[in-house]
Amino acid sequence: MNYPNIPLYINGEFLDHTNRDVKEVFNPVNHECIGLMACASQADLDYALESSQQAFLSWKKTSPLTRSEILRTFAKLAREKAAEIGRNITLDQGKPLKEAIAEVTVCAEHAEWHAEECRRIYGRVIPPRNPNVQQLVVREPLGVCLAFSPWNFPFNQAIRKISAAIAAGCTIIVKGSGDTPSAVYAIAQLFHEAGLPKGVLNVIWGDSNFISDYMIKSPIIQKISFTGSTPVGKKLASQASLYMKPCTMELGGHAPVIVCDDADIDAAVEHLVGYKFRNAGQVCVSPTRFYVQEGIYKEFSEKVVLRAKQIKVGCGLDPASDMGPLAQARRVHAMQQIVEDAVNKGSKLLLGGNKISDKGNFFEPTVLGDLCNDTQFMNDEPFGPVIGLIPFDTIEHVLEEANRLPFGLASYAFTTSSKNAHQISYGLEAGMVSINHMGLALAETPFGGIKDSGFGSEGGIETFDGYLRTKFITQLN
Ligand code: NAD
Repeated sequence: MNYPNIPLYINGEFLDHTNRDVKEVFNPVNHECIGLMACASQADLDYALESSQQAFLSWKKTSPLTRSEILRTFAKLAREKAAEIGRNITLDQGKPLKEAIAEVTVCAEHAEWHAEECRRIYGRVIPPRNPNVQQLVVREPLGVCLAFSPWNFPFNQAIRKISAAIAAGCTIIVKGSGDTPSAVYAIAQLFHEAGLPKGVLNVIWGDSNFISDYMIKSPIIQKISFTGSTPVGKKLASQASLYMKPCTMELGGHAPVIVCDDADIDAAVEHLVGYKFRNAGQVCVSPTRFYVQEGIYKEFSEKVVLRAKQIKVGCGLDPASDMGPLAQARRVHAMQQIVEDAVNKGSKLLLGGNKISDKGNFFEPTVLGDLCNDTQFMNDEPFGPVIGLIPFDTIEHVLEEANRLPFGLASYAFTTSSKNAHQISYGLEAGMVSINHMGLALAETPFGGIKDSGFGSEGGIETFDGYLRTKFITQLN
């Protein structure tokens, strides 16, 4: 199948699995082992820490032009190799090849955004009370950062953290997901080829708990960035707080969608259904709770089901597939449980609801109707290809319902009324609100959540806030 074995990348060296613990990497289409991944020992972790610390001493002093040039070269190489990298992402993660390739090319934009923006990391001069005093505010890189990136967008979620850290003048150690490691390995290869000095980026693999317990407490680590589930995020943030280390936490969501009576129904269905089944719904900003106003509930539900029926499920390498398998067998069990619980509690199963065949992690595009708040679906993030439909009467009521959960990441609304749009935009408790389209996650826009969905933004001009510290300098002349 020609999938690479996955080495560690420490201090500019690729270190293979010889004399190290090994983890197998599986293809979610058929559960076949496609490659071997090297797991870091404690000595490897120490090597990564020392190398990052050493590299920081010189990297923090580099000109933004140097950092910018390396990021641009990375972007160029990523575009050139997107087809090959995308193929490996499809093999270990399962998403359709066109989505995997797009993930890589979009990341070239993220690298370029940071290449541009790092030239504008400004401080400021504060007018002094005494004319002989000069008061400056400068922003300095934090130091060695530790990042944990997830399996659902293995290239994208890692490059957002890496670009921000290295553009800011930090060094970074990344632990990618062992389920889908080819993407972070490819990132290491591209930066290596782009001439990133040794130790500025180190990549490690292995047992998550062992690595987080050992690394977070290290005095070398100055910042933790994590994308993943809320329970793991809370655990890592509490560990980091013991050592007073700042965090960026990009955690789970359960995005509400409010479709008002006055919405353009066909446009809403087209936007929402295509977006929902992207990456088989394993997306933290995936629309999940579809609140539909009573006057259009029946028509909207029927149209959603019709459109969802067109989603073709199959192997991601087949160009005809719109949706691949789920990334792991545990996600299939989670979907089965959610559907069974909803149906037992009186919800209508309008489409799908079943595992497809015993081979691979395939699950049907699923639509549930008339969901009640006591179902698992309405409380836990589904993180899979399931739409839940709920009727609502007034905007006031639906805002209460949408805000009922502790999550606050993405949210969506469809309406042609600017009054509704205004009320909904300001009424939703979410880090991001998208009205009448799916407009999130661009390089130049901030991406992040509130409440249990985490804190800190990635992307936009906010991107550097998590990687810089503010220093005030006052001088009497
Ligand atoms: P999980 O809670 O077991 O793990 C979530 C992620 O955290 C994985 O990438 C895992 O490798 C990592 N992780 C686990 N323990 C860790 C530790 N001690 N230190 C560092 N990293 C650790 O859940 P899962 O089954 O892998 O994924 C399903 C859930 O994860 C979903 O319900 C979803 O909420 C969440 N998730 C969210 C995102 C996102 O983009 N926000 C991405 C992936 C997964």
